[in-house]
Amino acid sequence: MKLCRFNDNRVGVVRDSSVYDVTAALEALPAIRHPFPPGDALIAHLDTLRPAMERLAATAPALPLTTVHLLSPVANPSKIVATPSNYHAHAVEARLDPEIAVYQGERARSIRDQGLFLKSASSLVGPSHGVATRFPDRRTDHEVELAVIIGRPASCVAEADALSFVAGYAIGLDMSVRGKEDRSYRKSIDSYSVLGPWLVTADEIGDPTNLDFWLKVNGEEKQASNTAKMLVGLAEQIAWASTMYVLHPGDIIMTGTCQGVSPVKPGDVMTCWIERIGEMTVPVSAFEK
Ligand code: MN
Repeated sequence: MKLCRFNDNRVGVVRDSSVYDVTAALEALPAIRHPFPPGDALIAHLDTLRPAMERLAATAPALPLTTVHLLSPVANPSKIVATPSNYHAHAVEARLDPEIAVYQGERARSIRDQGLFLKSASSLVGPSHGVATRFPDRRTDHEVELAVIIGRPASCVAEADALSFVAGYAIGLDMSVRGKEDRSYRKSIDSYSVLGPWLVTADEIGDPTNLDFWLKVNGEEKQASNTAKMLVGLAEQIAWASTMYVLHPGDIIMTGTCQGVSPVKPGDVMTCWIERIGEMTVPVSAFEK
């Protein structure tokens, strides 16, 4: 199933080029009161809601995808985990370009030495919102990444079991201001995490470790690779992250970008595609107070 969130917090099932509004299925979610449990209630209950969603989608009117405003398919992740330098060719380009390298003037360190990092959950937007650049005088790069959405609580899980904790997959954009500050500062700006165009449930993805993907800016291809080229694989990333953080339903892992990162500026339009997920269009604007 392809699940999207659209317009004024509607939830939809995507089939071909149409959206079918299944928001009524959410009435079955348990009523919760403060303090709310961490994570995303819809993702936590996706398996039990899914039959009703399929039923509603069968009779709902078809809304053309081109007419809806796509929000992040996950509304309330407790955190966004991200993996640095996870494609060899990107690690090489980062070493060669002092503007990309995290620690300027130092040799880039291995992914094991760097560890995982966190992006603020409040940086998350959907594709239709787009990216609003915050520092007009600084380099802001696109990083297209396969995004994993966790489906059930995961703590210290074995690598062999790790993929069973995944609810689904989406396209992630880990937008990054280049510079010497900590990653959490440069990559957690409002709108610098994009998730979309929808969540594809794990059962429809097939093998997530062999998916082609690309990103274009204004129609020109900048990044292209395959998830098979990750240095640390998906299952190992989930297992690794779960040794440090409980992964809650709706938590997102951005699994690293490939070579070809480049700057964007207001007015640009990014188009991203991942095999078996689909394509999303993300405009870039200048941040306004
Ligand atoms: Mn990244």
